[in-house]
Amino acid sequence: MTPNKPSANGIAFRANPQLPADGICFDFHCHSQASDGELTPTELVQRAAAKGVQWLALTDHDTHAGLQEAANACETAGIRLIAGAEWSLQWGNRDLHVLGLNVDPAEEGMCQFEAGQLALREKRAQLMGKKLDKAAGLTGSYDAACQLAGSNTPGRPWFARHLIAEGKVRDMPHAFNRFLKKGQSAFVPTQWPDLVTGIAAIRQAGGIAVLAHPQHYNLTRTKLRRLLTDFCDAGGEGMEVVMPNLTLHQKQRMAECLRDFPLYASGGSDFHSPNQHWLELGKLPAFPEGAKPVWEAWVA
Ligand code: MN
Ligand code: MN
Ligand code: MN
Repeated sequence: MTPNKPSANGIAFRANPQLPADGICFDFHCHSQASDGELTPTELVQRAAAKGVQWLALTDHDTHAGLQEAANACETAGIRLIAGAEWSLQWGNRDLHVLGLNVDPAEEGMCQFEAGQLALREKRAQLMGKKLDKAAGLTGSYDAACQLAGSNTPGRPWFARHLIAEGKVRDMPHAFNRFLKKGQSAFVPTQWPDLVTGIAAIRQAGGIAVLAHPQHYNLTRTKLRRLLTDFCDAGGEGMEVVMPNLTLHQKQRMAECLRDFPLYASGGSDFHSPNQHWLELGKLPAFPEGAKPVWEAWVA
């Protein structure tokens, strides 16, 4: 088992301050095997290129480990890579995902923050393995999930695959419903850093903090506005507003938030696997009228 690699050093990841032409094909949210994605960073970049993507942000969960490989592949493919990650953070008792886009992954504070996230993930995975051993009558679930993931911080999908391989569940949904989701026997709650701490780390590394998929948190309109107020107060500057498969109601709520909060608009597919037939890299609806695209922050 290989330990987690430190962030890539020595590559100028920060985007060139040059405005893309109108109608640019971009995707600022996707995952590789460096977290829970199915494709290697190289395969992901090659797929993005084949789909016509010109600007790509790799945003693996709590790690920059895939960036070096992605940067090499982007160079070959002629795609501009935005260095990023999707950080797990806490707001009150809720877990949130915040993208740190266009960061310098080698910045010292960022490296420390990343190491802290990985330590939390490793602790969580070890505990999950123990709980699963007990709940499903298995042994060595943690090591098995590490093997499958090729890392010592396997997330829940890897434990799900282990359960499937052991014949304990039929498929992924069954694994989550029976063992892994909140309230079930192998769920491990994690105390992530708070919003303020996470956003500060992103900013210190020169990046833009973007609230990921606001529609996923099951917030009422009032609660969402409270979150955005706190998010902006903490230095958050962007919000994902274009994603595949938003309902009209969700689109309207996003547009309203963009009007009322000083936020740049971002968007991405949240691509994890070619098996997600309902989404594709770079395939996004247009920004709402009047939105300030997040790349304007990079040239400001
Ligand atoms: Mn994921
Ligand atoms: Mn997410
Ligand atoms: Mn994601």
